[in-house]
Amino acid sequence: MKWGLFGGTFDPVHFGHLRAAQELITLLNLDRVIFIPAALPPHKTACVITPFKHRSQMIRLAIEGNDQFYFSDVENLRPGKSYSMDTVQYFLDTHDKSLELYFITGQDAFDVITTWYKWEKLLSLCHFAVMTRPGYENKGLVHILPPDIAARFVYDQQNEIFKDPQGGSVFFRKTTFLDISSSDIRERIHQGQSIRYLVPDNVIGYMEANKLYRAE
Ligand code: ATP
Ligand code: MG
Repeated sequence: MKWGLFGGTFDPVHFGHLRAAQELITLLNLDRVIFIPAALPPHKTACVITPFKHRSQMIRLAIEGNDQFYFSDVENLRPGKSYSMDTVQYFLDTHDKSLELYFITGQDAFDVITTWYKWEKLLSLCHFAVMTRPGYENKGLVHILPPDIAARFVYDQQNEIFKDPQGGSVFFRKTTFLDISSSDIRERIHQGQSIRYLVPDNVIGYMEANKLYRAE
C-alpha cells in the first residue's frame, strides 16, 4: 500500500490542494491521500488560525464523494505543536510494515524543510512528494538541503526520483499550476469579493453559514 499524507493548515482547503492531490494519486500510484490539518501549525503561530473544527469540517465537505481522499484528525489528538514527524511516526507505528508513506508538500513548503522539527529523521522515515506551485522554482535538492545530506541522494533519471540509500526518496512532480492560496481566499472574503471556483461550493456554503473570514 502507498499512502500520501497531505499535511497543511488548510485555512481554508481549496482547489489547488484538491487538484494536486488528485494528480499525485495517478503520478505516484497512491492508494489514497489523507488530508491531515495541523492543530497548531509550528510555522504559523504568529497569525490567527481558524479553529480546527471549522478547518477540518471544510476538508470533510471538500473531499466528500472521492473514495481515494481521506481525512485524519490525528494532529488534534496530540497536545502541543503539530509536528509532521510525529504524524508520520504515528502512521508507521499503527500500520503494517509494508505501508509506504509519501509526505505531500508544495514546492514552497519543501523549500524550507530544514526548518521543520527533526527534518532529517522525517526524510529517513518516508518519501516526499513535492508538487510544483506557481511562483516557486524547483532548483533541486542541493539548494534546499545541506551539501553533505544532498550528496547522499542518487538521481534516478528514468523515474525522476532522488533516492537516499539511507532513507526515503524525493519525488518532484509537475501538477497543474493553480495559483490559488488560502491567504488570497481569506483576503478576498475580507474584501467582500467572490471566491467561487476557487473553493468547492459546499465549502463556500459552510463558510457563509459560519461567517468565516469576514471583516468585522
Ligand atoms: P496559506 O496561504 O495560508 O499559507 P496555502 O494555500 O499555502 O495557505 P497551506 O495549508 O499552507 O495552503 O498548504 C498546505 C500544503 O499545500 C503546502 O505544502 C503547500 O505548499 C501546498 N499547496 C497549497 N496550495 C497549493 C497550490 N495552489 N499548488 C500546489 N501546492 C499547494
Ligand atoms: Mg501555505
